[in-house]
Amino acid sequence: MSGTADDAATRARPRRLGVLGWPVAHSRSPQMMEAALDALSMSGWHYQRLPVPPTLFAETVRALPGAGFVGANVTIPHKRAALALADEASEAARQIGAANTLSFRADGAIVAENTDAGGLIAALEQDLAGRTAVVLGAGGSARAAVWALLRAGADVLIWNRTHERAQRLAAELGGRAVDAPRAADLLVNCTSVGLERAVGLDDDASSVEDALNQLGLDADQIGRYSYVFDLLYSDRPTALLQAARAAGVPARDGVEMLVAQGALSFELWTGVAPPLRPMRRAAREPVR
Ligand code: NAP
Repeated sequence: MSGTADDAATRARPRRLGVLGWPVAHSRSPQMMEAALDALSMSGWHYQRLPVPPTLFAETVRALPGAGFVGANVTIPHKRAALALADEASEAARQIGAANTLSFRADGAIVAENTDAGGLIAALEQDLAGRTAVVLGAGGSARAAVWALLRAGADVLIWNRTHERAQRLAAELGGRAVDAPRAADLLVNCTSVGLERAVGLDDDASSVEDALNQLGLDADQIGRYSYVFDLLYSDRPTALLQAARAAGVPARDGVEMLVAQGALSFELWTGVAPPLRPMRRAAREPVR
């Protein structure tokens, strides 16, 4: 006879994954990860949205392993908190100071990783050595972007609404804080500006110009960049993408980064090579 009753119980137990965020309704991770699990016929696995406010974050995360969770992605605004509560962290997550992927080990340890950094570099698909990049933002994803761009050899300028945060980020990770976005090869938006529009809470047409202004930019300044990358993604082009297209600047939204960072997380949790094509197809569909 092969295997014990315990083995069978372990095999039968559902393996749960999810994305922790607040808000998280806009996240396409559930449809993308479910597409990956379907493509690989991993029928015992499930990936779900986990809307959790900051006040409940730590206690919710600690309860997840007991509820059958193997791991979770972490999005706005919990990435710093995710690193803080982890028992172990990769060198990248520690240096960045933020985690977007948690794994729950069988011995009870919570392990933090940051796949945003690798995901961004994969999604940019260009040689960054010697290029100048302006990073907008100083939150969890901006930290990953600054760290990754510096390691790829770029010269990084950091602009943030709250200038002191940009200064602190530069002091910790490198790059230079600037009081206004300057001309550069690359513009990378790592702020949550436009998120309300993306989740349909704000339909005002004037919000494109408003969004640019919140990013310290005017529409006529977008032509100062050779390439624009917006970490945000949405069912309609983001404000920054609209402005870039109008200015004839090549631009990409955050879907490809979503796929690349998600693929890295998927492999960490399952040990299986992620099926990129179905993941990409699902990630490009409107949020379900
Ligand atoms: P976060 O840690 O909460 O940081 C938010 C940033 O946005 C801060 O720099 C904040 O500036 C700025 N901000 C917020 N509201 C603003 C406003 N009205 N005007 C100007 N700046 C404002 O968030 P995060 O985790 O870095 O995520 C940021 C965005 O990236 C989210 O939209 C998220 O969905 C997206 N993202 C996408 C991917 C992907 O795979 N595509 C991966 C990671 C993140 P202050 O410091 O002044 O508050």
